[in-house]
This record gives sequence, C-alpha cells and structure tokens, in this order.
Amino acid sequence: MSGVSVWRVLLGVERHVVIEGVEVEAGDGGEVVVVVSVRSSRRQGSRCPRCGRRCPGYDRGDGRRRWRGLDLGSTRVFLEAEAPRVRCREHGVIVAAVSWARHGSAFTAAFEEQTAWLAAHTAASVVAVLTRSSWRAVTAMVARVVAEARGRSDRLAGVVKIAIDEKAYRKGHRYLTVVTDLDTGRVVWAAEGRSKATVEAFFTALGTQRAAALTHVGCDGADWIHTVVKAKAPNAVLCLDSFHVVAWASEAVDDVRRRIVQELKATGRGEDAATLKGSRWAVLKNPANLTDGQTESLASIKKTNGPLYRAYLIKEQLREVFRIKGVRGRRLLAGVIAWASRSRIPEMVDLARKLRRFHDLIGNTLDTGITSALAENTNTHIAALARRAYGFHTPEALIAMIELTRGGLCPQLPGRAA
Ligand SMILES: [Zn+2]
Repeated sequence: MSGVSVWRVLLGVERHVVIEGVEVEAGDGGEVVVVVSVRSSRRQGSRCPRCGRRCPGYDRGDGRRRWRGLDLGSTRVFLEAEAPRVRCREHGVIVAAVSWARHGSAFTAAFEEQTAWLAAHTAASVVAVLTRSSWRAVTAMVARVVAEARGRSDRLAGVVKIAIDEKAYRKGHRYLTVVTDLDTGRVVWAAEGRSKATVEAFFTALGTQRAAALTHVGCDGADWIHTVVKAKAPNAVLCLDSFHVVAWASEAVDDVRRRIVQELKATGRGEDAATLKGSRWAVLKNPANLTDGQTESLASIKKTNGPLYRAYLIKEQLREVFRIKGVRGRRLLAGVIAWASRSRIPEMVDLARKLRRFHDLIGNTLDTGITSALAENTNTHIAALARRAYGFHTPEALIAMIELTRGGLCPQLPGRAA
C-alpha cells in the first residue's frame, strides 16, 4: 500500500480526496501536530454545500483553511485545504462543499460524530477534556450532527400514542414543548415555547393523515394543549398523564408541610419546625423508595402531625388509583376526591377541586390503562440535561441534545460497522 493510501485509511477520508502532503509542526501549546494537505477531486469539487449542485467557481474565499480531525494516537491532526467559494443558482455565493466536513464547521465530520457520541454517553466535562475543546464547541458539533440526522429519518412515521409535555428550563423562565412516542419512548418532536402555536406547529409537521391515526394523546393540565389536540386529532382519546396528577398531589403535600413549618415557627416551636423541615423527602417520595431514616420520620409525623400525615395518605391513595386503573381505579379516585374535599386541609381541598375539574381526562387515563412511564422518563432526563453545569446557550442546543440522547439521532462511532 502506498503512503498516500495509508494516510487515507488513517484519516478515514473518501477515495476521491486527494492527499497532497503531510507535515509535522508545533501546535499552539508547543506540542507536535500533524497537518495533512488535501483537496477534493475535480469531479467532487465546486459543489454547493446546501444542495450539492455543481456550481461555477466564484473566488478563492479566505484562502487555505484547517479542519480538526480525529487524533492519531495522542497527536492532534488537522486537514488543510483551499476553501474557494462558488456561486449557486439557489444559495448564492457560498464556500464550496468538502466531503470531509459539514458546512460551516472547523472539525471533520468524523470528529464531530465521535464527539456527539461521547456527549450522549458521558459527562460533559469529560467530553470537553478528551476532545480538547470547550463545552460550547461540543454543543455546536452536536447541533450539526443532529440537524443532519433529522434530515435522514422521519421520526413521526407510524406514531399512534404520544405524550405532549411542556418542560421548563433556565430556572423555569423558558419552556420547550416535547412530544414522546409512548410505544418506543423516543422523543419525536421538540420545539421552544409553550403555546397553542407551538402545539399547532407539531400537528403541521405531523400532517392531517397521521394526526387522524393517533389513538392516544397524553398531556398535563394545560388547556391550550387540550384545545389543539381535540381539534387536530379527532380520533385520539385525550388522557392526563398520571405522573403529572401525582405531581400535583406532591406539590399540595409540600405546601401543607411548608405552611405547618411557618405556623410552628410563629408560635415559638422552632425545634419542631426544624424537624419537620428535614422531613421533606419522607412525605414526597414513593413509600417503596424511603430510607430507614425517612420511614422513621414518617412514623413520627403520623404521631405528632395529623394534617400532614393525612395529606400524605391522600397523595399515596392517588398514586394507587393509577396503579389499579379501570373501573376500580375510577371508584378509588372518587373516594380520594371525597376524602380530600372533606379533609379540612385547604391545600387538599384545592387538590380535590383540580381533580374534579380534570375528572374526565383522568377517567380516560384509567379506562385506557395507558402508562406514561416513558414520557415520565423523558421528563426526568430533560430536567437532568437542563441542570447540567455547563448549561446550554440556546434552546436549539438543548433540543439537539435531547434529540441526540432520546430521539434516536445519536451517530455510530466513526469506523464502526452499523
Ligand atoms: Zn445550492
């Protein structure tokens, strides 16, 4: 094998890329880097990067450019080539496409795919160190890889059961609307915003025929989602996802606990207030997941704090409603609502009112027996992503990360068989 062919294999570039030379030079940190000079073959050159059409040349652009490629061992590698501009009939004057990199990127396609794969599988800080780049550069690579993958797959094909959720990020100031396929658990659509217009945009992407094929749509209590779903998906049963309903009860219990802490403080019982404050997770968690200490703290609440313990029991009964489902679930729900409204605990009375208001949609959930565990997983996953220390500079970057990790758009590692 000739030296040139060996380099082509090592760099993972296509056959029509001409390798002109290989140099070693000092990098910006004083370490050695490998610079490989390449050019597109005459047949592949002079194409528009947006539409792939052959176009007449325009000028030399900014001259020679470099693209960071996959490391060779521990040594950084750059591809260097001319980056002339072409004039496309449709896209105007634009830097010509190269087969080894995506338009507008300073990295090779293989480098970006490896980085995106890493970002989907390991901690952000690890990816930045390993790739010797910034988290910001990593999110930009993820965005380009995902944008390309989106064009290759139709994720909305064949969906019949979905959940539509609004998800807060940036400390609850901004929102995304996220659609999960309840059969596969995949995120099939996501966009910034939480409004009728956002949900309508989803149905536009879905198309009328596929909207008519929807059998179940799960969501939270947002009226603006309900209105659009009823209009656009006439054959779908609208359900309230159980985890949202249980979350309402958890919030109500937390409000009760907070109010009692305040009352104890105001009457000079600071020590009792502090104990109760420390019991937050004991009353919020699923009983099956309680630690020994939390079980103990729950037992002491039972003894000393009747209202909070009753609120806790109401919440747990509501969880049970969704476990047993069907007619029995409906019967238990009626019992929970009656219990909560007679509880003389204001927060629970409010909860009863809310449950009554959404009684029909909760009934649908119980009748269809639909489980929203996959949508709940998506929800938890997105909350964890949004909390990541490095953060996301734009909603698009967060959406790309969601689609990379939950939308089935994660690329293969370069050089591995599919
Ligand atoms: Zn073009």
